[in-house]
Amino acid sequence: MASHIVGYPRMGPKRELKFALESFWDGKSTAEDLEKVATDLRASIWKQMADAGIKYIPSNTFSYYDQVLDTTAMLGAVPERYSWTGGEIGFDTYFSMARGNATVPAMEMTKWFDTNYHFIVPELGPNTKFSYSSHKAVNEYKEAKALGVDTVPVFIGPVSYLLLSKPAKGVEKGFPLLSLLSSILPVYKEVIAELKAAGASWIQFDEPTLALDLDAHKLAAFSAAYTELESALSGLNVLVETYFADVPAESFKTLTSLSSVTAYGFDLVRGTQTVELIKSGFPAGKYLFAGVVDGRNIWADDLAASLSTLQALEAVVGKDKLVVSTSCSLMHTAVDLVNETKLDSEIKSWLAFAAQKVVEVDALAKALAGQKDEAYFAANAAAQASRRSSPRVTNEEVQKAAALKGSDHRRATNVSARLDAQQKKLNLPVLPTTTIGSFPQTVELRRVRREYKAKKISEEEYVSAIKEEISKVVKLQEELDIDVLVHGEPERNDMVEYFGEQLSGFAFTANGWVQSYGSRCVKPPIIYGDVSRPNPMTVFWSKTAQSMTSRPMKGMLTGPVTILNWSFVRNDQPRFETCYQIALAIKKEVEDLEAAGIQVIQIDEAALREGLPLRKAEHAFYLDWAVHSFRITNCEIKDTTQIHTHMCYSNFNDIIHSIINMDADVITIENSRSDEKLLSVFREGVKYGAGIGPGVYDIHSPRIPSTEEIADRINKMLAVLDTNILWVNPDCGLKTRKYTEVKPALTNMVSAAKLIRTQL
Ligand code: GLN
Ligand code: ZN
Repeated sequence: MASHIVGYPRMGPKRELKFALESFWDGKSTAEDLEKVATDLRASIWKQMADAGIKYIPSNTFSYYDQVLDTTAMLGAVPERYSWTGGEIGFDTYFSMARGNATVPAMEMTKWFDTNYHFIVPELGPNTKFSYSSHKAVNEYKEAKALGVDTVPVFIGPVSYLLLSKPAKGVEKGFPLLSLLSSILPVYKEVIAELKAAGASWIQFDEPTLALDLDAHKLAAFSAAYTELESALSGLNVLVETYFADVPAESFKTLTSLSSVTAYGFDLVRGTQTVELIKSGFPAGKYLFAGVVDGRNIWADDLAASLSTLQALEAVVGKDKLVVSTSCSLMHTAVDLVNETKLDSEIKSWLAFAAQKVVEVDALAKALAGQKDEAYFAANAAAQASRRSSPRVTNEEVQKAAALKGSDHRRATNVSARLDAQQKKLNLPVLPTTTIGSFPQTVELRRVRREYKAKKISEEEYVSAIKEEISKVVKLQEELDIDVLVHGEPERNDMVEYFGEQLSGFAFTANGWVQSYGSRCVKPPIIYGDVSRPNPMTVFWSKTAQSMTSRPMKGMLTGPVTILNWSFVRNDQPRFETCYQIALAIKKEVEDLEAAGIQVIQIDEAALREGLPLRKAEHAFYLDWAVHSFRITNCEIKDTTQIHTHMCYSNFNDIIHSIINMDADVITIENSRSDEKLLSVFREGVKYGAGIGPGVYDIHSPRIPSTEEIADRINKMLAVLDTNILWVNPDCGLKTRKYTEVKPALTNMVSAAKLIRTQL
């Protein structure tokens, strides 16, 4: 019985890659230094999987930034503006596409399905020239082979690649991207030929778009692509891997009838229908890669349950054709539990990170083959039982409160009347300026937080250092003449962790990092039990900040849906139950802030959209409970208290009515990096009555926007939005930027707002 891993985290157990990348970008180390760190990481990952006994070990799942960008590089599909002149794509061009450079902005980045990982969106058109321009996959295959590990090279499949891309600038919006299939397949063929020559016997194509709702035309493209590749692939075992949901019945049929494909990978954790589909018809002689071990969460697998699923599948596909696998790449979970020294042993016994999941996969494969490790299975069963019965998991009071959700939880007055009442108190100019919350997190600031956490400095010293930082940020904003201020979030290292640490029902890891984009990682808290808020969380800092200025100071909270979506969530009750519990906790905080005199409160829901299920049939249900959870947080406050919310990185047009239904007074929203797609919804006539601040510049790039450029953006917004509802703000928080970038950028932003005010 064989075992397989779909993909593995690339950052390293202690984020080695992150630090190597950032030091290289800062010019503090050389390309060779960076390559050395990467090579060592790859080697240790391959060795670890080989030692665990995994048969099908992936390669080319490492990336210096993103696997979709790697595919763009492989295909030589570099957008013209990067002035690439051909040849093997090096770090210069690669990182310019990813991050922009002094003169050219970065490519767009967007969420990878419903995860918190972001990929770089390919920009393609009829004139895009494709040529084999990055030999990374082949090089990695050879590198592993030299270490004695025969790997399965992994690619983004050609159809998913095209379906995830967008028409380049200047190309008509309706351009049929799938028409480029015949142009990219020759490059895939070249790569395949090279891999064969290098000795590869397996190849994996990730085609996650197969889990989406696809029309017949798109499905036909799958058949066409893999038929076209058939002769190139002959002699290789070909695995098509799907994940994040089950594959719809129609697509399942198309997929399993591809004659060039010899193996199919399915997510059996999120794919609730898949087992039935497989039972209703799986092609004879093909391999089934059964993804039973959850790649999206940190819970130890229920091995007994998985084993019985696998046994049922074995009866369908045959003993020698069943391969035990993970539900998706393990890059969406934390790296290694071994590095968690602070978690108590009870909670630890409930968990498995990537390294432990590799062992689970192998243990399941061995058990199926009749070599069950009884002690290992018994320990697992005991941990499962302790989690089910632990008093730390259940809090009767919270269960009761969360069940009391009969009402719609809507503010009594409508938004335009509320805005009038608020304006009387706030007296803001037209096109009010604000920022999203965080200011740069300097090395010094991080040091202060770290030393406080490690008890190296006293609470007093800590509080005074943070106060001083807030006062600097307040002064700066006053100098810049920003209208609604923020305290800068110096006390937070992360917008979810900060709240999770103060709520009950949460546990924290020391190194449970998951890649978000490029070198950025997040460390999601673990929600293991019922959630409640024992004490106020932000009131002290917000009050302190407000006392430093006569301008309105925004209270700054993370919303329930974002806390949920950016945490590892318990899998023993429905997600919405957990979300309502968090909403009730945040509601208390909102009310305490209001009572402390805070007049503007921002409740970030950066991650609301990314929780959207992949399949349309499930959207309405999710949006209903997600939007409801947001409303719970502020349903009982005064008309004069202004509720802001903020969202980033998404395409909102399809959920605009849900956003309106959140009933916030003001929303600030990512806009500049997605080509102002957002505005088109208003162009198309959606009426938006609340305040709205589509970001006027991209904070994810070091580039400083000019006043003219920002003014131009504001004018574009004014063409579709009423003057009295428009706010002027950046795309997102400023914590990853440097002051040398933030000061001039915000100076230009305020000048642009003032300039336009004089023209109204
Ligand atoms: N208030 C947060 C900040 O400014 C929002 C971050 C986010 O939207 N991702 O950092
Ligand atoms: Zn944001």
